[in-house]
Amino acid sequence: MKILVINAGSSSMKYQLIDMDDESTLAKGNCERIGIDGHFKHTTYDGRSTEYDVEMTNHTEAFIQIKNALIDEKVGVIKELSEVSAIGHRVVQGGSIFKESKIVDEKVIEDIESLIPLAPLHNAAHVQGIRACLDVFGKDVPEVVVFDTAFHSTMPQTAYMYAVPYEYYDKYAVRRYGFHGTSHRYVSARCAELLGKDIKDLKIITCHLGNGSSITAIDGGKVVDTSMGLTPLDGIMMGTRTGCLDPSVVTFIAEKEGLSPSEMDTLLNKKSGFLGISGISSDDRDVSAAAEAGNERAKLAIDMLEYQILKYIGSYVAVLGGVDAIVFTAGIGENQYSHRETVCHKLGYIGVEIDDEVNKKAIRGVEGKISTENSKVDVFVIPTNEEIVIARDTAALVNA
Ligand code: ADP
Repeated sequence: MKILVINAGSSSMKYQLIDMDDESTLAKGNCERIGIDGHFKHTTYDGRSTEYDVEMTNHTEAFIQIKNALIDEKVGVIKELSEVSAIGHRVVQGGSIFKESKIVDEKVIEDIESLIPLAPLHNAAHVQGIRACLDVFGKDVPEVVVFDTAFHSTMPQTAYMYAVPYEYYDKYAVRRYGFHGTSHRYVSARCAELLGKDIKDLKIITCHLGNGSSITAIDGGKVVDTSMGLTPLDGIMMGTRTGCLDPSVVTFIAEKEGLSPSEMDTLLNKKSGFLGISGISSDDRDVSAAAEAGNERAKLAIDMLEYQILKYIGSYVAVLGGVDAIVFTAGIGENQYSHRETVCHKLGYIGVEIDDEVNKKAIRGVEGKISTENSKVDVFVIPTNEEIVIARDTAALVNA
């Protein structure tokens, strides 16, 4: 069974064709600059690739590029399109409606559309992707939607409510939803597998640290709290996002600078975080290099990030009433071993002990335990794989 996994953005569409027999990726690529000037990239499992500029005025035209590449004589990986058994879409915001993955029908599309106010850019693009997919692949190929928020739907109300007047929860569904759920779900399940234990018996804290970052507390396989909120702006500081702050900072700066809500939104989402503090870059590699070269603001950005990771882990240990395992994942979590080292050394008081040499080697896709045998808490680096979760959910729903 071959599953096509789609991550549709407003001007880009990433894809992977996965063979479920061995869960290997047959081909992957990206349609970039949809509706602008258009660029298409495609690579196969055995190193064949193609890349070219091509106008794609909408998502349907992007799907036609994907379809053509998959069956192409030179860079194709299947003979006929009918070999694609089903298509799985990533959807960012499932709101309170979607607590699990679903087979797409008109009602599901309408429900995702109804959540556009909560995730204007993302959900609108996903709907375009789903409809374009129907145009190109037809109704006979089942489509499934997998939500970033679904894994967090087990959070108790005490954790997901904001202390604003209750009417805004009723009127606009203002609450914490959390994101990166597919990643937190994958790495927590994998952590239990690596420990050889049932996830029901484990308290796990998962740290997804990338351009966007979130930390999640998982008790017995169920999320009890997560750092991202109504939107992916909350939590720890990120590449260009603030993370949590005193809400008065927003009104204060807006008033002082005469900024509109949408200008403030840009400032908080695109000009803050690593970029805003360091003034150098949103990329951890650039900021870390500058810090090492003695740049004070870059060093401050790194120190702030490490401090905030530590603070979230500490608070989630309290929420969980202890912790059995901590997992690091995503670009920074999987590669920037120095942050893991700083944070884990400071967690010595709860019995965390890592092997610094093993930690240094756990980079670039290496999966494994970085804690010592003496450590009271197991610490893992687990490369995330959201596509596999989407493909598995798609296969399971379609086969059922
Ligand atoms: P996204 O949230 O966009 O998926 P990623 O998970 O790829 O982002 O994370 C991007 C971050 O990870 C950047 O800050 C980058 O510096 C860091 N990163 C990615 N790859 C590496 C690497 N090989 N070595 C060090 N840092 C990396």
